[in-house]
Amino acid sequence: MPTTKKQKECYFCVNNLEVDYKDTRTLRKFVNFYMKILPGNRTGVCSWHQRKLATAIKRSRIMALLSPTHK
Ligand SMILES: [Zn+2]
Repeated sequence: MPTTKKQKECYFCVNNLEVDYKDTRTLRKFVNFYMKILPGNRTGVCSWHQRKLATAIKRSRIMALLSPTHK
């Protein structure tokens, strides 16, 4: 199969947003039901923002803004 798949544009690049660990509503879009960080190919986030996102989510967990598990 040819890999001419249309690449989804990065949410943060398109909206010109910075990854903010306080913005849990946005962060929640990039974690699954079990609060695991979704891979970049699932979310369409570029590798640069994916890395920032991972850091933000981890920080957000430490600050207890985002629960480490769903319960
Ligand atoms: Zn990006």
